[in-house]
Amino acid sequence: MKITGIEHVGIAQVEIESKSDFWQTILGITDKSSEVISEQGVKTDIYDTGQGKIELLEALDENSPIARYINKKGPGIHHICLAVEDITTALAELKEAGIELIDNEPRVGAEGFLIAFIHPRSTGGILVELAQKP
Ligand code: ZN
Repeated sequence: MKITGIEHVGIAQVEIESKSDFWQTILGITDKSSEVISEQGVKTDIYDTGQGKIELLEALDENSPIARYINKKGPGIHHICLAVEDITTALAELKEAGIELIDNEPRVGAEGFLIAFIHPRSTGGILVELAQKP
């Protein structure tokens, strides 16, 4: 597979609105987009640094994976997302190598990217997301 860079770092927050002062005003990352992804139970603000994005994640309800994460570990870095050229090939190669996947098939995530998560059990404790540009 071909990894082309770090697409974004996902950060779990109790609520994201009030965080824009830090990211947008103080750090000056003005390229910001917002999205609600109901299927994943999250609301997201994405700040594009120009080389990798910061994805702030807020749970839409208590069943959201972000709510469960915050209840267990508190707010903080939730996952690292790597950009791949071809996610279908990447998932096939990972399966072949015996890597435990959360998503066996790619699904549509924020910004229309095709995404899939790799289980932290196979990555040294880090939730890793793969993303292919739409
Ligand atoms: Zn992500």
